[in-house]
Amino acid sequence: KSARSDDKSYAVFDLELGAKLAHEQKLVNDLKLALVSEEFELYFQPQLSLQSQKVIGAEVLIRWFRDGNWVSPAEFIPLAESAGLIVELGDWILRTACEKAQHLISHGFNDLVVAVNISPVQFARPDFLNNVTEVLEITGLPAQNLELEITEGVIIYNEVETLETLKALKDLGVKLAIDDFGTGYSSLSYLKKFNIDKLKIDQSFVGHIASDSADKSIVKAIIELGRNLQLTLIAEGVEELEQLTVLQDMGCDEIQGYYFSRPLAEQDFIQFMQNYHVKP
Ligand code: C2E
Ligand code: MG
Ligand code: MG
Ligand code: MG
Repeated sequence: KSARSDDKSYAVFDLELGAKLAHEQKLVNDLKLALVSEEFELYFQPQLSLQSQKVIGAEVLIRWFRDGNWVSPAEFIPLAESAGLIVELGDWILRTACEKAQHLISHGFNDLVVAVNISPVQFARPDFLNNVTEVLEITGLPAQNLELEITEGVIIYNEVETLETLKALKDLGVKLAIDDFGTGYSSLSYLKKFNIDKLKIDQSFVGHIASDSADKSIVKAIIELGRNLQLTLIAEGVEELEQLTVLQDMGCDEIQGYYFSRPLAEQDFIQFMQNYHVKP
C-alpha cells in the first residue's frame, strides 16, 4: 500500500467522524435549548397484570419533538448523559412524571404505579435521595405510587453508596425495579443485598420466546429466580399473543409491550384507562 492511499482512507475516516461529532454537537446544543423551551413530552405505557387482567402501572417514557421529528430517547439519553445534561433533564422528568401521576391518582386511578427510568448518572448524584423526597412532598404523590427503574449499571457504579441510597428509597416507600434484567454484567449477589421489588425481563429475551428454546430457558430461569426471591416479574417488549401465552404458562406476573398497548400520550393514556375499567 502506498502512503497516499493510506492518507486518503484516513481523510475519509476523519470526515465521517467529523460529521458524526458535528451532528452530536448540534444535538447537544438543541438539547440544552429544548430543556428551556420544554420540547419534551412524557408518554405512558400501560403494564398489565396477567392474573387480574388489570392495568397495574405505567412506564414513563420521554419523547422529544425536534424540528418536526421525533428523536428517540435511545439516541438522546446517552448523549445527555455524556454532555452532563441528564441531571437537569432527569430532574424535570421525575418532577413532571410525579405531577402527572398525582393528577391521575386524584382522578380515581388510586392504585396506579408510575415507573420512572433513572439514569445511573442521575442516581449517583449525592442529592438524588433529597430530590426524590422533595418531589414527593411538592407533588403530594404517595411514595407507593412511584417506582424507580434502575439498571444493573447503577450497582456497578458504587456498590456501598448504591446500597445506602436504595435502602433510604425503600424507607420512603418508593418501589424499585431492575430494568433490562439479564443484560448487565454485574454479579447476581446484589439481589439478596438490595431490597428490590421487581425484575423487568429484557425485551431481547422476549422477542423470540415462542420459537427460540435458548431464550425460553433464560426467561424460565429468570422467572424461577425472581419467584424464589419473592420479586414481581414483568416481561418487556411483548408484541404477540403467542409470547404472552408462553410467559403466562411460565408464571410471569405482568407484561408490557405493543401487544397490550404502545406508549401513549397523557390524554390517550387516560382514555385507555377509562375504557379499560380500572377505575374503582
Ligand atoms: P427501557 O426503559 O427499557 O424502555 C423500554 C423501551 O421499549 C421503550 O423504548 C419502549 O417504547 C419500547 N417498547 C415497549 N414495548 C415494546 C414492544 O412491544 N416492542 C418493542 N420493540 N419495543 C417496545 P423508548 O421509549 O424508545 O426508550 C428507549 C430507552 O431510552 C429506554 O429503555 C430507556 O433506557 C431510555 N429512556 C426512555 N425514557 C427515559 C427517561 O425518561 N429517562 C431515562 N433516564 N431514560 C429513558
Ligand atoms: Mg425502563
Ligand atoms: Mg427495559
Ligand atoms: Mg432498554
